[in-house]
Amino acid sequence: MRQEFLTEEFARELDRSDELAHWRGHFYLKPGSIYMDGNSLGLLSREAEAALLSSLNEWKTLGIDGWTRAEQPWFYLAEELGRKEAPLVGAEPDEVIVTGSTTLNLHNLMAAFYRPEGKRKKILADELNFPSDKYALESQLRLHGLDPQENLVLVRSRDGRTLEEKDIIAALTDEVAVAVLPSVLYRSGQLLNLSLLTYAAHEKGALIGFDLSHSAGVVPHKLHAWDVDFAFWCNYKYLNAGPGAAASLFVHQKHFGRLPGLAGWWGYRKDRQFDMNLTFEPAAGAGAWQAGTPPVLSLAPLAGSLALFKAAGMERLRAKSLALTSYLIYLIDAGLSGPPYNYRIGTPREPERRGGHVAVEHEEAVRLSAALKRRGVIPDFRPPNVIRLAPVPLYTSFHDVWQVVRHLKEIIDTREYELFPRERDTVA
Ligand SMILES: *Cc1c(COP(=O)(O)O)cnc(C)c1O
Repeated sequence: MRQEFLTEEFARELDRSDELAHWRGHFYLKPGSIYMDGNSLGLLSREAEAALLSSLNEWKTLGIDGWTRAEQPWFYLAEELGRKEAPLVGAEPDEVIVTGSTTLNLHNLMAAFYRPEGKRKKILADELNFPSDKYALESQLRLHGLDPQENLVLVRSRDGRTLEEKDIIAALTDEVAVAVLPSVLYRSGQLLNLSLLTYAAHEKGALIGFDLSHSAGVVPHKLHAWDVDFAFWCNYKYLNAGPGAAASLFVHQKHFGRLPGLAGWWGYRKDRQFDMNLTFEPAAGAGAWQAGTPPVLSLAPLAGSLALFKAAGMERLRAKSLALTSYLIYLIDAGLSGPPYNYRIGTPREPERRGGHVAVEHEEAVRLSAALKRRGVIPDFRPPNVIRLAPVPLYTSFHDVWQVVRHLKEIIDTREYELFPRERDTVA
């Protein structure tokens, strides 16, 4: 091990040679605090703030005319944002729409894509799934009069942290109608091979959709080229569009013309929406999956935020994200893996199997997270033993990472974590 890689000076050196370092100045970072939670709620940028304020002002000055006369007319806003977001996930411009919320979009997509027939009735997911997705899939089965116990197949994890692609492929039997899997697992940060899984699902005659909540905006995808059937994600994590921001969904072009599962007037073909026809005709693109009027004030920040992504470049962001997480893993391995520290990395070490965050495991994770917070480091805790740390390439510096590792060391050296209760807060 090279001692100079562990120094504060080396962290500063990494920041000096970081071509994305200047974007940090576009964000509202709390002075004296290190934000490592951008994978739960991304921070506000000046661009997102300006876009929101300008929408508010247009409402003030234009009233109803904002639908047609706002600088970006509200009537086309969700489609326009979909077009701008499409390159981040490798979609064609009309394959993405910004609408609804993540969980509701999963419902909406399943209502269209899950068609149990003959012996092909099952939905495939995984046991490490985000609970909301599992609840949604179970309720979709119930809506079809099917027993979730029998028809929701969960791929098992061998180590409690990660999934093996070969186990998922083995579970894709001819009874599976649709598979719904995460791109990046929310706890361990493992990135699955979406291209391989899509190929395998289609070989076995199943449709496949992905939850990109923990990869959109930090890992580039090629949804169109990989032939992914559908995908959905939230815009308030790495995409920094604000708490509860409107979410996004992707529908592959080959499925255009299919009726949306939960139709509404906002999914009607755009040019005739105001004909108020009583016979539904879906829009030509992913826009058909909208139901009602878009929440303009909740879409607005995304417009500002996407401008940053366009300028910074998704490939460059991914490269910096991997450099940040590699550096974090390296520092923990080098200095904090043995006694008395005993921190363990729960995230795959191969870059191509890693998303944007690192799962640091410790049996005292709850109290260590509390102690970090008191020192101004914002992590998040995921039960039972994970401190999730997300260095966000747009606004986290290498020096931030270095300081976080120093704090992880000091809270053990001083045993200050023992001052905190073992129970966690309601919102972890
Ligand atoms: C954050 C997250 C969601 C969020 O769902 P909401 O409907 O926006 O609350 C869904 N799935 C995964 C995997 C997530 O990480």
